[in-house]
Amino acid sequence: MSENCLFCSIIAGDVPATKVWEDDDALAFADINPQAPFHVLVIPKIHVANIVESAADSSIGSAVLQGIRAVTAQEGITDFRTVFNTGAGAQQTVFHVHAHVLAG
Ligand code: 5GP
Ligand code: ZN
Repeated sequence: MSENCLFCSIIAGDVPATKVWEDDDALAFADINPQAPFHVLVIPKIHVANIVESAADSSIGSAVLQGIRAVTAQEGITDFRTVFNTGAGAQQTVFHVHAHVLAG
């Protein structure tokens, strides 16, 4: 949990979001500005800024991959694109690591 982190606030329930799937370690919710018919963000419940910082805890990558598998399976999606923006220069705007999962 990080103060002033939008996605930590969504995990905490302090900011509303359309949750699509979650377990103890990760959450998938609808992107507020979808770039495809199906566009969810999959985030770990532990706060790290991006893939580089996720090196601090090897469970984070596993949690996000499991979230991607679970939310796509739940929605019956077999073909999808996954994007991680890392760094402001690559258009990362929210500094809580997230996978964009796009389909349709
Ligand atoms: P980034 O550019 O950091 O890779 O992606 C951040 C994503 O978060 C963007 O696609 C943006 O639409 C989404 N986003 C920003 N604010 C909110 C919000 O308050 N709620 C939801 N559901 N998505 C958000
Ligand atoms: Zn956070």
